[in-house]
Amino acid sequence: TGYEIYEDRKNSKGLDLTYEPHLDQIDAARDPYADTQFTAEPLIAGTQKGGKLVTVTNPANGKEVGQITWASAEDVQTALGSATRWDAAPETRAEVLNRAADLYEDNLGVFFALLAREAGKTLPDCMGELREAVDFLRYYATRIPYLTRDARGLFTCISPWNFPLAIFTGQIAGALAAGNGVLAKPAEQTGIIAYEAVKLLHQAGVPREVLQLLPGDGATVGAALTSDARIDGVAFTGSTETAQIIHRAMADHLSPAAPLIAETGGLNAMIVDSTALPEQAVRDIVASSFQSAGQRCSALRCLYVQDDIADSLSEMLVGAMDELTPADPWHLSTDLGPVIDEEAYQGIRTYIDAAHADQRVVHALQAPEAGHFIPPTLIRVEGIHEMEREIFGPVLHIARYKAENLDAVINAINATGYGLTFGLHTRIDDRVQHVVDRIHAGNAYVNRNQIGAIVGSQPFGGEGLSGTGPKAGGPAYMDRFCSADPAPVTA
Ligand code: GLU
Repeated sequence: TGYEIYEDRKNSKGLDLTYEPHLDQIDAARDPYADTQFTAEPLIAGTQKGGKLVTVTNPANGKEVGQITWASAEDVQTALGSATRWDAAPETRAEVLNRAADLYEDNLGVFFALLAREAGKTLPDCMGELREAVDFLRYYATRIPYLTRDARGLFTCISPWNFPLAIFTGQIAGALAAGNGVLAKPAEQTGIIAYEAVKLLHQAGVPREVLQLLPGDGATVGAALTSDARIDGVAFTGSTETAQIIHRAMADHLSPAAPLIAETGGLNAMIVDSTALPEQAVRDIVASSFQSAGQRCSALRCLYVQDDIADSLSEMLVGAMDELTPADPWHLSTDLGPVIDEEAYQGIRTYIDAAHADQRVVHALQAPEAGHFIPPTLIRVEGIHEMEREIFGPVLHIARYKAENLDAVINAINATGYGLTFGLHTRIDDRVQHVVDRIHAGNAYVNRNQIGAIVGSQPFGGEGLSGTGPKAGGPAYMDRFCSADPAPVTA
C-alpha cells in the first residue's frame, strides 16, 4: 500500500552542532540569508487585496528582516469563500506531507536564518524546531491509515511566535492529515517564517484552496476566522486568555459541534528533594528555565527545593547561571537570545524591577544593552501561590519546603489551576509514584529537564487552564480533527 514506508518512520536526526563538518554545512546553507530583506504576503486562493504593510525587525538588534503584507478583512472573506477540505486519497495526503518534510529539510538554511532573525532563536533551538516540524509532518502521515472517520471540514489554525515553524506546522499537518482544509493565522511576530513554510507545503502538493495563509492581527484576522459559521473547528496555541476569547467567539458563532483544540499557558513547577543528584538537577533546572530565554510554555517557572539541600543547591544554580551567555542567537556560543519584542521586554522588565525593589532577586546576570535581552534572573518566593501569572521569559522563582510539607506543595501547585509540565528530581521510587499520582500536569518528567517533548514518544499537552488536549505529537491528536461519527455508509 505504500504505508509500510511510513510505518518505520524515525524522528529526524538533524545535524550535530558539536561536529565541525555539520556546522560548516549549516553556515553554508544559512549565510546567504544573513542579510536578505524578506517579503511575505497572504497566500490565498483568489484575488488578494492585501492590508497593512508591516516591517519586521530582529529582536536581538533591531535590524530589518523584511516586510510582510497582512491580510485585509476582504482577503479573509475571499479565503473563507474559496476554502475547501482536502479530498485527496489518504495515500496522497501521506505522500504530500512526507514530501513537505523533505522540502523543509532541504530548506534548512532559510529556516535557520529566519528563526534566528525573526524569532530570536539560538542554533540548538533552530535545530530542535526544524526537527520537530519535520517530525510532526511525518508522524501525522503515519497516523492516516488509522483514521476511521471523515474530516470535519475547515479548520482555523492559530499559532504562536515561540514555535513559529514547529507548532505552526504541527497544527496544520494534523488538520490536513485528517483531510481538512486549513486557514492558518501565524503569530503577528513571525509571519515571514510561516510564509516560507506554506510555500513549501504548496510546492509539496497541498492545493492552494486547501491551505491558505492569512497573516495579520487578532482583531482583523483571528476574530474573523473564529466567528464564521463556515469554520468547523479551531486549533490554537498561545495564552490561556486568548483561548478563552476564542472559545467565547466560537460559542457565539460556530456550530456547537466545532471543537477547540487549545494548548495554552502554564505555571510549571519542579520539586527537588534531598536525595536528588545535585549536578543533574542543576543542569536540568537551567535548561528548563533559561533555554529559549524561557519562552516555552513548558518552561520551569517555580522550583521547590527541600530545605536540607536548598543552600547548597542554590549556590550551584547561581554558579551555573553565571556560565550562561545571553547574546545574539546567530552565534553558536550563545545560550539564550532576546525575548520576542518590545512589549514582552517591558512586561518582564517591570516584573523584575518590582522584585528588585522588594529585595527578592537572588541572582541576575548582565544582558546585552541593545536589543530585547532579559538577563537570566532568579527570584525568591514562599511558594507558587505568590505567582499571579506566567512570566514568559528567563525568570525562575525558587522556594524551599520541608519534607513533611510535600503534599502541601503538591496541593499548592495543583491549586494554580494550570497543569502543563512538571518536574521531579528524587532517587526514591515510592516518592515518584506518590507525587506523579497526585500532580495535575499533562507532562510530568522525572530526573530530567521538562522541556522539549519529542513527537511520537512524548505527546505534549496540558490539563486545566493549560489546554484541552488531545496532546500534540501523540496518537489521539488527529481524532479531534475528525467528525465525531463514522462516515455515512452509501449504497
Ligand atoms: N512542546 C514544547 C516543549 O515541550 C513546548 C511548546 C510550547 O511552548 O508551546 O518544550
